[in-house]
Amino acid sequence: MTRTIIVSNRLPTKVLRTEEGLTFQPSEGGLATGLGSIYRADNNVWVGWPGLFVEDVAEQEFVTEQLRTDSMAPVFLTETEIRDYYEGFSNETLWPTFHYFPQYTVYDDTFWAAYVAVNEKFCRAVLELAGPDDTIWVHDYQLLLLPQMLRQARPQATIGFFLHIPFPSYELLRALPWRAELLQGMLGADLIGFHTFGYMRHFLSSVSQLLGLSSQNGRIETATRTVLVDAFPMGIDYERYAQAAASEEARQHEQEYRQALQDARVILSIDRLDYSKGIAQRLRAFELLLTRYPEWRGQVCLIMVVVPSRDQVPQYQSLKEEIDELVGRINAQYRTISWNPIQYFYRSLPLHELATLYRMADVALVTPMRDGMNLVAKEFIASKADQRGVLILSERAGAARELSDALIINPTDMGQLAEAMHEALVMPEEEQVQRMRMMQALVRQYDVFAWTDLFMNQLTQSKSQQFTLS
Ligand code: UDP
Repeated sequence: MTRTIIVSNRLPTKVLRTEEGLTFQPSEGGLATGLGSIYRADNNVWVGWPGLFVEDVAEQEFVTEQLRTDSMAPVFLTETEIRDYYEGFSNETLWPTFHYFPQYTVYDDTFWAAYVAVNEKFCRAVLELAGPDDTIWVHDYQLLLLPQMLRQARPQATIGFFLHIPFPSYELLRALPWRAELLQGMLGADLIGFHTFGYMRHFLSSVSQLLGLSSQNGRIETATRTVLVDAFPMGIDYERYAQAAASEEARQHEQEYRQALQDARVILSIDRLDYSKGIAQRLRAFELLLTRYPEWRGQVCLIMVVVPSRDQVPQYQSLKEEIDELVGRINAQYRTISWNPIQYFYRSLPLHELATLYRMADVALVTPMRDGMNLVAKEFIASKADQRGVLILSERAGAARELSDALIINPTDMGQLAEAMHEALVMPEEEQVQRMRMMQALVRQYDVFAWTDLFMNQLTQSKSQQFTLS
């Protein structure tokens, strides 16, 4: 029987070392939800790093056995591997380049060597499990070389690859010394998926200019196979957010928060700490709103959630300092005894608290400099049972390709951002509902389950077409 093997850097379960011993925590990411129904079915399995450095063979065997009962197979990585392959090449080389921050890119051959070695390690782990005809779905930028490594070992396998971050313009990619190897690595797949047609075009153009392979209608002819490239905008588990936001618990919390904020209007901003998210620019634009429109002072509050992330990397540390300083300065300048312009949270919030914030926000401010998709924008939309609320969305988030009823802005244009905030705050309810209704219909229909089905169906189809052609 053929089966499906999902491969990603992280498993959907985190193993943590606590005082009581090892604990297993489900990760709440969208990917785990979307693929949950697949990897637990039949004989399928999810391969990835469990987030733990094991101390000895006994512990390794224990973790492996526990995860096996939940259809997962761990790839154990050492601290050096995580430092060089994950924090290094993935997050300090690929991440900045693919998000158009080449000035932050680190070019380091040690990082590259570790990246190759860890992709090989993942390859061995998959091969131990996969039969010659199995379907393998590889995810994201940490594993760009894996499709080709698998192809060499299993020429007949059905291999899909999906990139969850942007694919940059050729001009950015060409700066990487390892650009050709990275493209070759991806081309081992039968189907390569991106969030948007824009990313797909950049990929096809890079393949053409760096490898000399042309394409037609998203089909690349390599020496031995046809590779299909397509766009699959990822969705969310719509009902999960809709239900959480509509719950009695969220309603009660909203009342409490509103009282505490003295019924000020709420602008909401939620991100992981990352320079690609445009957090500092957003704070400056909020300050500009308060200077251009003094009537909003005391009347509007920015709730800003920043989730700690990659705090070992110097750029993230200095971004954190910049945000702390901006929040401190703006609050100190404008606050009154009864009003604080920015409510700043530097921590991760559980779903029910996020749902309350989505529910109560008049405006969601999603203004990344670059973002593969941005799921926060879609979660906000799913949470609006009364269809009131306005989304301000950066033109450089993948989500902007679908959510054209948002107020679409250029995140570096402070003036435009401040005007969009004002426009959102005074927008007639009728118009809010009209825009929200359109966006809800779309986000509900193309949810994460539809995304998974579309990708898997296309993968099966692309394989059967290859056989018909050959
Ligand atoms: N999120 C969370 N807790 C928080 C803030 C955010 O679980 O306190 C989740 C949020 O619901 C969303 C994800 O983190 O599902 C962020 O995904 P997105 O695509 O917006 O950005 P990424 O962090 O993947 O770049």
